[in-house]
Amino acid sequence: MGSALDKLDHWIAGSAVMPTGADYMAVTDPATGCEARQLACGNADDVDLAVQAASAAETAWKQIPALARARLFGDLARAMRADSAELARLEISETGKPEAVALAEVENSATYFDFYGGLIGMPAGDTLDVAPDQHVYTRREAFGVIGVITPWNVPLNQAARACAPALAAGNTVVVKPSESTSASTVRLAQLATEVGFPSGVFNVVLGTGQDAGAALVAHPDVSKVAFTGSVGTGRAIGHIAADRIIPVTLELGGKSANIIFADADVEKAVAGSLLAFTANAGQVCSAGTRLLVHRSIHDEVVQKLAAGAAAVRPGRDIGPLITRAQLERVQEYFKIAESEGAQAVTGGTVSVVAQETGGFYIDPTVYIGVDNSARIAREEIFGPVVLMLAFDTEDEAIELANDSDYGLVAGVWTSNVSRALRVSERIRVGQVFVNTWSTGSVQTPFGGWKNSGYGREKGVEALHHYSQVKCVTIKF
Ligand code: NAD
Repeated sequence: MGSALDKLDHWIAGSAVMPTGADYMAVTDPATGCEARQLACGNADDVDLAVQAASAAETAWKQIPALARARLFGDLARAMRADSAELARLEISETGKPEAVALAEVENSATYFDFYGGLIGMPAGDTLDVAPDQHVYTRREAFGVIGVITPWNVPLNQAARACAPALAAGNTVVVKPSESTSASTVRLAQLATEVGFPSGVFNVVLGTGQDAGAALVAHPDVSKVAFTGSVGTGRAIGHIAADRIIPVTLELGGKSANIIFADADVEKAVAGSLLAFTANAGQVCSAGTRLLVHRSIHDEVVQKLAAGAAAVRPGRDIGPLITRAQLERVQEYFKIAESEGAQAVTGGTVSVVAQETGGFYIDPTVYIGVDNSARIAREEIFGPVVLMLAFDTEDEAIELANDSDYGLVAGVWTSNVSRALRVSERIRVGQVFVNTWSTGSVQTPFGGWKNSGYGREKGVEALHHYSQVKCVTIKF
């Protein structure tokens, strides 16, 4: 089966399904500003169809022996690698990211199925020594249908990251990808069907958050929601989940601090810090967008980082911003920065590549000159923009890092192991990177503290968030 995803329909019960309202919307290629394809606009009826299919597939999914389910995961990972050119093409057509980056995303997404396939059938309960005449044990059971709602920045990765552990724990899924970037997720569901996942186990319903997304969260047969996206949407979904008394994983935004101490390897710290705010054109929840530098090396780091940022070429090294609206939002932050008294050491403008191509390209931007109370220090911009702040003491660096509504990631650059341990312990975030900046691996649990959300994706941890405990007591 080829993908033929020029016009995108829902994927429900193992087939492409047209929207009941026959509504479609245009998806834009952000590298050119032109239409990439038409996308089905799902409504509550479409969501109901998908959830019913997922509900009906629960029994068939559970009845497949664990090792046979694990084999399907391996087959899907292999199919993704074999299809990497097409998955990357779809991803590029809606995000504009460079080909090497898209291919790396496909490979990374396949590893979720490698990893969680390997965990299917592993012991998932305990026996408890309660009394001599009782046999007491716990087991972890699936919730049922999981509603997965994903954002546009790394669409295939976000879908695979949530679906692999959800399916491995025995659930079925209905995914509502971002309306800007749905194609690679539909292709993933097609591949799952091709390798033999029973129909209805992996469904994708398309459309806007206000219609399809909200209907998915409100559907009475959805037993848990896994949401990745902005704080505002996460809060709205959290309210509905609270009303329905269902669990929700919220993977939200960040304003992550990246701290360079005077004893750091400056060259490595600058290279890592550049990547931390420019990767994916800064459209990463874990981007290092507040760079705290010890005053003794501050000016040296400003100069080296600005030179590195100026050498990053939009269109070659990084892709565009996702939409015209996002481009305008980042430009608005440029005005806010100026009005607050910040100085752009480099960038602060729409890239010339934007004029050449019609795409939504921004030059990497390094700001200095305002403190941690400025809006550009507190609000997530979601573009390749960093603010540099100087500090004098370790305590001050920790205080600045923690002075944020968010708590997703922190970076620490130092050659002193005691300092690395001390600082890592005191920073209030879900993950700390010492002498590196990355998004971790499939094995490392990922999630936020404070406004960055709760629940965990990745690692063995995620399996706990996609299953619930049952305790059985048998009296002899
Ligand atoms: P968004 O909140 O606008 O949209 C995310 C998804 O939610 C989309 O599929 C959208 O259609 C849907 N949605 C919107 N309104 C909805 C509603 N009322 N009910 C149900 N669904 C709804 O976020 P975005 O702009 O797509 O993504 C950017 C945000 O995502 C940033 O804040 C970023 O930090 C965050 N993010 C977090 C992580 C993480 O792992 N923590 C990863 C990537 C992105």
